Amino acid sequence: MPIYEYRCESCKGTMSALILKPDEEKNLSCRHCRSLQIIRILSSCSVHKTDAQRVAEFDPNAPKGNNFYNDDRNVGLWAQKRLDQLGVDLGPQFDETLEKARNSKILENT
Ligand SMILES: [Zn+2]
Repeated sequence: MPIYEYRCESCKGTMSALILKPDEEKNLSCRHCRSLQIIRILSSCSVHKTDAQRVAEFDPNAPKGNNFYNDDRNVGLWAQKRLDQLGVDLGPQFDETLEKARNSKILENT
């Protein structure tokens, strides 16, 4: 499936979006600041990684640039990694909360 990476020209945040029709791209707005000034960027990895792969490859001790924090998918990655290492499964409620955080829904009502 065509999942493209975008960068916002206003806030420099990055996001990925599933584009099924060319028209969908025209109406795309920044997930962080709702700006319409977004450009498609080349993904650093052309293969779509699963969440489990991302957690497995994540090194909590590696230095993180601004791009790391601008990427929604990295929200809660550290927590996921620790839980994984400890063999703790907090169940679907944790995953749900994480998903909301990644989509900024937790902050929407504040
Ligand atoms: Zn933005």
